[in-house]
Amino acid sequence: MFKENFEKLIKIKEILKKILKDEKSIDNLFKILENPQRIIKVYLPLKRENDDLEIFEGYRVQHNNFLGPYKGGIRYFPKVDEDEVKTLAFLMTIKTALIGLPLGGAKGGIKVDPKNLTEKELEELSREYVRKIYDFIGPDKDIPAPDVNTNSKIMDWMVDEYIKLTRIATNDKNKNGDENRLKATFTGKSIENGGSEGREEATGKGGEIILESLIKKLNLQKPLTVAIQGFGNVGYNLAKFLYEKGYKIVALSDSKGGIYSEQGFNPELVMECKKEKGIISGCYCVGSVCDSRLGKDITNEEILELEVDILVPAAIENVIHKENAHKVKAKIILEMANNPLTEEADEILNQKGVIIVPDILANSGGVTVSYFEMLQNLNNERWSKEKVFSELEKYLTRAFEEVWEIKNNYNLSLREASFVLALKRIYEGFKNN
Ligand code: NAD
Repeated sequence: MFKENFEKLIKIKEILKKILKDEKSIDNLFKILENPQRIIKVYLPLKRENDDLEIFEGYRVQHNNFLGPYKGGIRYFPKVDEDEVKTLAFLMTIKTALIGLPLGGAKGGIKVDPKNLTEKELEELSREYVRKIYDFIGPDKDIPAPDVNTNSKIMDWMVDEYIKLTRIATNDKNKNGDENRLKATFTGKSIENGGSEGREEATGKGGEIILESLIKKLNLQKPLTVAIQGFGNVGYNLAKFLYEKGYKIVALSDSKGGIYSEQGFNPELVMECKKEKGIISGCYCVGSVCDSRLGKDITNEEILELEVDILVPAAIENVIHKENAHKVKAKIILEMANNPLTEEADEILNQKGVIIVPDILANSGGVTVSYFEMLQNLNNERWSKEKVFSELEKYLTRAFEEVWEIKNNYNLSLREASFVLALKRIYEGFKNN
């Protein structure tokens, strides 16, 4: 997985050589990036509540820190393995560089199905993971965050364990002195515990900012129609922000299926209805009313093939592949999920002239606000949601403008241009190292 992902960068490497006219250094940089700087593998003993001892495998892969401390989430998933964590850590190196954050890339994980653990066991396992990787993390070393199946509660346990260990290590009796600085070791914490306003909605908000920038460049007039697959944190928040900006959200779906209405849904009402009924089916909420005559149910395959201006895969990976790519009728694809297109699908859609906004750009709002959380902790500040979103807009529109320029100058896709920009920044970090 890591190897295949890396090998895809051959074309980018050649473009960089042309732009930077420094063949030797680019070759050297690619040699370095082909391996993470550090792979930490840990075995975590957990005493289960029935008194059995179980050992869980965990990882922290620190891919690259030429631009700053490592940054990346921790996932709890039965299929976590070294190769997957390595691939995700590499993508974090690219993502943080692309947005221009002074951070590198990392990822972590524990091979576990958290549904099989009690809350007490989950807490103990999370604390044990921190005890094992303690020496390698910290605000100027590596800053973990939540990912699949981890959340603010788990980050709160982790940061608490980190602070405890630091107190012991430094014999520190002054409990208040550098508390905030230590808290900056983890992001995605609860608001009460130093988390940032707006983090919950940040990825959706980032998607809106990037899409708005693109629409302006293309001179497209609203209302534009949008279909969103996935109505979780990312899909729901994006839908809500786009609705507020005058887009027409004609289709929405979750894992059980989707809904369609020509008139466009009100996402907040759809969410209320879904919560009440337990499923999205039949939640045809338009304007201020929900009515069975206002829409129809569709499948998760159909949602991808609708005649819409913008298609947003916001659920899982590889949903558009070589079998269904030619059926996609949207003009723009905004990749909010990670890796929603297979390589073959990407090629087919590029040839068809579909504009694809790559995941590393479209869904980077989350990591950007994570960086703001870290800044707030380090500077003893608390930003309002307005300030968080206005800073987010600055970072993301700047990255978008730079990608757009590279795309036009070198006749590249937005994905290729995003990789070129990220690697150009990492090259600069490499030269200064
Ligand atoms: P989530 O668990 O909150 O929501 C996922 C949604 O997708 C749910 O509505 C679920 O029902 C739906 N879904 C699951 N399987 C599906 C299927 N086969 N077909 C259609 N819908 C399906 O997750 P999320 O946080 O919204 O993340 C969504 C995607 O965005 C993931 O790929 C994630 O890696 C990516 N992402 C999330 C963030 C973030 O900050 N949350 C940041 C970057 C990338």
